[in-house]
Amino acid sequence: MRGTIGVVGGSMSGLTVGLLLRRRGWDVHIFERTGEQLASRGAGITPHKELFDAFRQAGAEIQTAMGVEAHGRTLFSQDGEIVARIEAPQLFTSWGLLYRFLRTKFPDDRYHNGVTVSALETMDDEAMVEFDDGSHQAFDWVIGADGLRSVVRESLFPELQLNYTGYVAWRGLVPEARIPIKIGEQLRDRMAFYLPPGEHMLGYTVAGPKDTCVPGERFYNWVWYRPTPSGAAKTEMFTDNDGAYHPDGIAPHQIRHSVTAAMRDDAQALLPPQFQAVVHNTEHPFIQPVVELGSERLLFKRAALIGDAAFTARPHIGFGVSKAAGDASTLACAFEKPIRERSTALYEWEQERLRVGRALLKRSADLGCYLSGPPQNKKEAARFEEFRQPDVLLHGIAAINPYEFLED
Ligand SMILES: Cc1cc2nc3c(=O)[nH]c(=O)nc-3n(C[C@H](O)[C@H](O)[C@H](O)COP(=O)(O)OP(=O)(O)OC[C@H]3O[C@@H](n4cnc5c(N)ncnc54)[C@H](O)[C@@H]3O)c2cc1C
Repeated sequence: MRGTIGVVGGSMSGLTVGLLLRRRGWDVHIFERTGEQLASRGAGITPHKELFDAFRQAGAEIQTAMGVEAHGRTLFSQDGEIVARIEAPQLFTSWGLLYRFLRTKFPDDRYHNGVTVSALETMDDEAMVEFDDGSHQAFDWVIGADGLRSVVRESLFPELQLNYTGYVAWRGLVPEARIPIKIGEQLRDRMAFYLPPGEHMLGYTVAGPKDTCVPGERFYNWVWYRPTPSGAAKTEMFTDNDGAYHPDGIAPHQIRHSVTAAMRDDAQALLPPQFQAVVHNTEHPFIQPVVELGSERLLFKRAALIGDAAFTARPHIGFGVSKAAGDASTLACAFEKPIRERSTALYEWEQERLRVGRALLKRSADLGCYLSGPPQNKKEAARFEEFRQPDVLLHGIAAINPYEFLED
């Protein structure tokens, strides 16, 4: 064995880095606070080169059978007419299938479910993980793959805070069978968009329960981005029936009826008939505040940050899982180097992944620039207009070719 590595977080980036490091001879332990297998949140993942590469290194190919293929993209007007369309085949892979593939490859005795890390202390020659039961474990290296609200990041860089962007995403999943047949025909096999003033809505078909991709048994996944300034409007939306405020996100069952009812009324008033139908037929719509964060550093002594823990971009470019896989596989390559070359390899890894993370953050902020509220000046108005152009929207959201914006 080359040495020991503790990975905090056992989702996409944690499992990918864990698997690839094991293949390179490291003794890896993954700590995941969730007690059972992680459940899919249902949405489709657009796989890109990094994800294909990481899976190949882990010994598997991502195939079309692992998701739902869309043949193109359509932009509707409010009366439901098609105002723009492009042909662009794209696979929406099932998160659950990817996760389960990685999980079955990683040994159970090294994957510690239901274990929460509460802090990290890193020194020159080792890093010490502290668990929420008060116990500790030392490793040669620790990797923070613990997502958006990373404890590892907080221990290393406590000054870094998530930035609320000023808008929320209303989301929902509808069984295909609940969508009226005529509407279903217009939505099937294509990603669909609509741009209400200052807002943006999209939808596409994803795998159904138990990741089935059989037509008729899948889900339609929709996301509606809406400006919601910090303060009274956000507090109102994220306060439950008992008066408790959940600024970081409210569980679907805690959303007050009046909040959902207001959104449903707006859907009838503002959306094209196709999207009215999907919102109407969604049993449990839910809301997420859209946040972003960029780390200034990814390495500190014996600790590294990857995936959402390192950079959380707004979701528009659809590159989160691919970026997580890219962070993980390139970090594993740096750890493969002999000791005398490792610190240079890690430094180069950090510089390159900071560059990718920053480019991703910028591009995603551009794509969502008009969602935080009205423009404050002419320059901003022109920028908003640019990113609401049908061509920019249809090519840029869930990017068909994200590398256009992420390469040097
Ligand atoms: C259950 C689940 C389902 C998802 N489904 C989708 C989807 O359908 N579509 C999509 O686009 N994205 C989905 N995502 C998000 C997507 O996977 C991430 O944006 C991306 O994969 C980045 O992955 P990550 O591993 O860096 O972070 P995450 O996927 O957020 O994983 C972080 C992991 O760390 C664990 N963790 C956090 N804090 C601690 C701690 N203190 N101690 C121990 N463990 C900790 C969390 O439980 C989580 O499993 C999902 C994430 C999760 C966790």
